[in-house]
Amino acid sequence: MADCAWGRALLRRAHNVSPIGPSTQRLGRSRSRGSPDRAAGRVSSRHLSAPSAALSGEFMRCTLPVLLVLGSCEPASQPVHLPSTDTVPTGPLPALLTLNAVDLSMTIDPRADGFSGETDLHVELARSTDTIWMHGLDLAIGMLEARTPSGTPVPGTWTPEGETGTARITFPEPLAAGTQTLHIEWTGQFATDLSGLFRVEERGNAFALAKSESIQARRALPGFDEPRYKAPYRVKLTVPDGYVVIGNGRELSREPAAEGFETVRLAETDPLPTYLLSLAVGPFESVDGPVIPPSPQRSEPIPLRGFARPGRAADLGVTLASTPPLIAILEDAFGLPFPDEKLDIVAAPAWPSGATELAAAITYREARVLLGPTDDDSVDPAARQKMLKTHAHELVHMWFGNLVTPAWWNDLWLKEGFATWGSALALSAWEPNGGHALHATGRKIAAMSTDSLATARAVREPIQGDSDIRNAYDSITYGKGMAILEMVDQGYGPNVFRPAVRSWLEETAGSSTDTASFVRALVQASGRRELGATLTSFLDQAGVPLVSMTLDCPNRAPPSVTLRQQRYRPSGSRINDQQLWTIPICLQVDTLDEPVCTVLQHKDMDLSLPGERCPRLIRPNPGGHGYYRSALSTGAWNRLAQVLPDLEATEAWMVVDSASAGFDAQKIPAPSILKLYEAAARHPSRHVAAAPLPAIAGWMPHLEPKTKALVQDWARSVWQPLRLKAARSSAPDQRLLEATVLQFEALVIKDPQARLMLTERLAQRIDGNLTALPSSAYEAALQVLAEERGSAGIEPITAAVVALDDPALERAVLTAPGHFTDPQQRIEAFDSVLRDDLDPRVAFARVASLMATQNASRRDDIRSRIEQDWQRLAEAIPRQW
Ligand SMILES: [Zn+2]
Repeated sequence: MADCAWGRALLRRAHNVSPIGPSTQRLGRSRSRGSPDRAAGRVSSRHLSAPSAALSGEFMRCTLPVLLVLGSCEPASQPVHLPSTDTVPTGPLPALLTLNAVDLSMTIDPRADGFSGETDLHVELARSTDTIWMHGLDLAIGMLEARTPSGTPVPGTWTPEGETGTARITFPEPLAAGTQTLHIEWTGQFATDLSGLFRVEERGNAFALAKSESIQARRALPGFDEPRYKAPYRVKLTVPDGYVVIGNGRELSREPAAEGFETVRLAETDPLPTYLLSLAVGPFESVDGPVIPPSPQRSEPIPLRGFARPGRAADLGVTLASTPPLIAILEDAFGLPFPDEKLDIVAAPAWPSGATELAAAITYREARVLLGPTDDDSVDPAARQKMLKTHAHELVHMWFGNLVTPAWWNDLWLKEGFATWGSALALSAWEPNGGHALHATGRKIAAMSTDSLATARAVREPIQGDSDIRNAYDSITYGKGMAILEMVDQGYGPNVFRPAVRSWLEETAGSSTDTASFVRALVQASGRRELGATLTSFLDQAGVPLVSMTLDCPNRAPPSVTLRQQRYRPSGSRINDQQLWTIPICLQVDTLDEPVCTVLQHKDMDLSLPGERCPRLIRPNPGGHGYYRSALSTGAWNRLAQVLPDLEATEAWMVVDSASAGFDAQKIPAPSILKLYEAAARHPSRHVAAAPLPAIAGWMPHLEPKTKALVQDWARSVWQPLRLKAARSSAPDQRLLEATVLQFEALVIKDPQARLMLTERLAQRIDGNLTALPSSAYEAALQVLAEERGSAGIEPITAAVVALDDPALERAVLTAPGHFTDPQQRIEAFDSVLRDDLDPRVAFARVASLMATQNASRRDDIRSRIEQDWQRLAEAIPRQW
């Protein structure tokens, strides 16, 4: 492809200072969500002779119930197979051509059932051929011909092959090598399952939007629907008179078309893969955001606009206002200008994921971005945090994903890991006290939880077939990908890592690339071979390293710490723990002012400590930047607990995680873990203070009633005072802590008073009090209502919330039936998914919540209904996330 020339042009422009769920196909294949492996942990009575809490009995811990685990592992490190032209490709297309440019004209009327289009695909054939493989799914193909350089049309035949939208184009005679244009005309039906080119009606208005990642663009238009094929697009859309068009290029002109229609011509785009195309059409309302001013990397300002359904555009104010400062930070960090000449923020009335980084037209599920006109006290703090995290992630994608694109989906981490890492980086630079680094820590810990399972997959695994692509969209790609980048950045130093990333970005701008090029560039720029070994050992292997640190203070010799690595293995797991990584490790001891750092490349090593004095305290992961869990002696854990409230929050949270994992693996006795949790609750960060709560919630189903009551009393005595104190503050952080602890008391301790408080506050919210309940507590409040009153509690408020126009609350009410306890009502809730015309995402969430119960017979009832009605269910839920 002619992409490198484009990349160099962008660089010249930069130097002359002239111009970012759910992991599977619905309930399908997931190898890394919970596993029976995790449920095998048993804690011996030795660990439970806990004098401080008088705990007794034995219990097991497990993860949330598995929804449906149907998949199996692919063997690691198999090469991508590029089939010959005779074999139907079920993954990457044969490397036969490059795509130079695309002319695309479509008629899109969201009020109609279908759409039509014609395209000219300008390609360069590497050799003469009579067969070309491309993509197109459920499209009615009309005219199809190759237009040769001499102008002679050669009619072609379109033959759909396989189930994922591959098509064989054949010509009666071979096309010559070199430049050719494929002209195709087609019609198609709008999807209703939020994928491809779908339509949605909201409050009487119809909208059409394209959600194509990963391989759904083929349902809207014929083309080369693979990220390797990047090309500039010249788009013309014929739409009903006056309808707004939001594409990737800015609008150049509008001309009358057929009666009641006009044709909108858009500026040619930079090279794009199909999954980044925006084809949004509808009666959107728009609002101008603050202009993104020129920067040291860019001489021209960038116009910023917001789009939402009528009456809601002003509520994009908070999101739009955050955009210019975040872009300035990212341009500075990446050393390259914002890659597009405009930026549109689109609040889609329906969208399967939180957001998608469509080039220059970032599109969000509206609940994520409609926060209000101004950033003041009325803005829900939980919703604001969520928006910022998502928004910064999507902005990072403008460089990582859009400017530089992974050539195939096995390198998805190259865009998603970077976007997740860059999001925390940018937000922390913008709001240093906003707790954004802690969100990254939370994601890292969530990824470690998944990565602890025997069934965990590696960040990079072969994706040979189209049907495997969605497996890559999980916490391993996003959270572990991010954590690896953070570890390398901090472990080798930002002055080593970031310049190397910048030079790789400059070199590959405009193109599609892969992990090998990234690792090569980093090793070359840094001159550190072990940096490459760190990346590959973490990217290509599943599992969390467990690093034990043992202090040795021999007589008349300097003290040292013995480091030993193995794979973390929860108690009862079948994991083989003999695995090695190249791990940058730092540790801090109380006899030294600075951390001691090394790179652990073998199973074990002795790390000599400067000085003669024997340390009393080891901090095993200062700053919490390493993607590993630490193992210490019981005494060392106890001493660490004493200083826990004083540690940096990111580090303290990682200590809580390592200790919880040690308890799961029967390496830490109960009294020590309880002391450590009590210390965490004294930490000033709400994230650390609440960090033990999910672990304690995981114990509950496995405790005998007497032990359970003791644990509940202990937990209440530790966290309830925190809630009462937080309730006296109006600070957003304290409001969120208060809501988190209240939910724990209501759902885990089952405290009647807390349950009553939640439902009362929900009633106040429904009465119009915007600050009565943070959005993060909507689902918990509705769960209490659904558990206690069943459908009699939920039905009356279903209609009331529609009038509030709070999409997050509406969604929580619609998914609440998942928490019904009455078997009949549960079946009725499932049947309603098949019968009622629910938003596909709500439908999925309702089924997921019906399955997410610890009660096996209730779960099995729903499971058998899923199996019985699978086809109908598949039509009611999103095709992909
Ligand atoms: Zn992303």
